[in-house]
Amino acid sequence: MSTNRLKELEQQARLLEMAPSKEPSIVDDIVEFTVQWIQSLPKEKSFYRDEDLKNLKGLKGFSEEGEGLAALLSEFNEEVLVPGINGGSGGHMGYIPGGGIYASALGDYLAAATNKYVGVYYAAPGAVKLENQLIKWMCNLVGLPESTSGGNLTSGGSMASLIAMVAARELSGVKAKDFERCAIYYTQHAHHSSTKAIINAGLKEAKIRHVPMDEKFRMKPLELQKMIEEDKERGLIPLMIMASAGTTDVGAVDPLDAIGEIANAHNIWYNVDAAYGGFFTLTEYGKKKLKGIEKADSVVIDPHKGLFLPFGSGAILVRDQKQLYNSQHLPANYMQDTMSNQGELSPADLSPELTKHFRGVRMWLPLRLLGIKPFRAALEEKLELARYFYQEVQKIPAIKVGPDPELSVFYFHFQPDGRDANLVTKQLLDEIHKDGRVFLSSTTIDGTFYIRVAILCFRTHLKHVQLALDIIREITSRITKSR
Ligand SMILES: *Cc1c(COP(=O)(O)O)cnc(C)c1O
Repeated sequence: MSTNRLKELEQQARLLEMAPSKEPSIVDDIVEFTVQWIQSLPKEKSFYRDEDLKNLKGLKGFSEEGEGLAALLSEFNEEVLVPGINGGSGGHMGYIPGGGIYASALGDYLAAATNKYVGVYYAAPGAVKLENQLIKWMCNLVGLPESTSGGNLTSGGSMASLIAMVAARELSGVKAKDFERCAIYYTQHAHHSSTKAIINAGLKEAKIRHVPMDEKFRMKPLELQKMIEEDKERGLIPLMIMASAGTTDVGAVDPLDAIGEIANAHNIWYNVDAAYGGFFTLTEYGKKKLKGIEKADSVVIDPHKGLFLPFGSGAILVRDQKQLYNSQHLPANYMQDTMSNQGELSPADLSPELTKHFRGVRMWLPLRLLGIKPFRAALEEKLELARYFYQEVQKIPAIKVGPDPELSVFYFHFQPDGRDANLVTKQLLDEIHKDGRVFLSSTTIDGTFYIRVAILCFRTHLKHVQLALDIIREITSRITKSR
């Protein structure tokens, strides 16, 4: 290849070097777009159903030449941001929202623009220390021991559960021929990512033991104990107990302390799925509610839920990081320079990922910049808002609620006299979706269709809850009259 051609290619490729200082308008335009988007949230809907958006043209394709930013931003807004659920909206009270704080976006900007490789200590000692510091902070929060605990920042709770499952499998020493004798314990209300973790860890043949629940959908420790004892007698190998610190369906917190005692007594890996509920430990109430979480061998926690970070932020926290290391570390010739670590474990030795997003910055920047206090306040506010919503929604005629919220999730349905509750509740939800100013989701419990409320977006405040109540009041009264 001639050097002329090389220079020509260099010239073309130089466009990638676009630097902020040379293109101030691009940075300004993106910031301006983002600021306007955030400022428009109070007036914007929380949900646009696909079928209600008739003007979508679909994303355009790629071409050799670049295009102007203005057109791209407008296409991005119409085709990408508008359809579906608005992830930043205070009216989003479905599934488990979080919001995505702006300071995290700035952290992502820092991380992406500097592209520090955070997989191994050798390549980025400071970056690894930053992530390990965040992990330690979360370990402290849930009460895991200072000296041995550790973990990994993951893409979310599902990946964190998988990492925990693999660690438990490796520690137990079970081999493929034993898998069908392994038993794993959780309730029917555990998140489906628990089952996915089992499958992805190759343990599909293991016995899944659904532990009975009390009237508030919490695991019954005595039943668990009985099951384990029976299973041991039958020659099964109890491999893991998965408790929930806030189920997705109803926000139930299993009796973590009692379950921890049983796990200890039988020497079974104790995983607490605190993906949704974990950060409530920042509040006095949550700390009491989640008592016993400190007995866990592993904790799944999602900063993209209770810490309001943008999606793509989960974490696995473990009591003994050596166990994680033993299940994930593999040497490789081309990695031989990376062995020195000054006592810090590298993310790549604690997870399936080698190269990964420098996730820590999106968490580190807001925590340092804003302090912990506003997070604590927001979480306390969400607990209170859920209780308020729960109290007020019961006053609406023919609305029947489930158990009072242990954290910030609860459910209700609509049951006017002589009407099929499932049918009218579905109709109610459909009309809430069509209205779109708030977004609620649904679930089915024991064959009954329920509307779920999950308050965790940092932008959700009293006015959003009042708006949701107004909307429910208005639609239910309309449905009742239309019989
Ligand atoms: C959200 C959630 C998960 C799954 O986490 P992702 O971050 O969505 O992968 C697991 N368990 C519970 C209780 C959850 O709420």
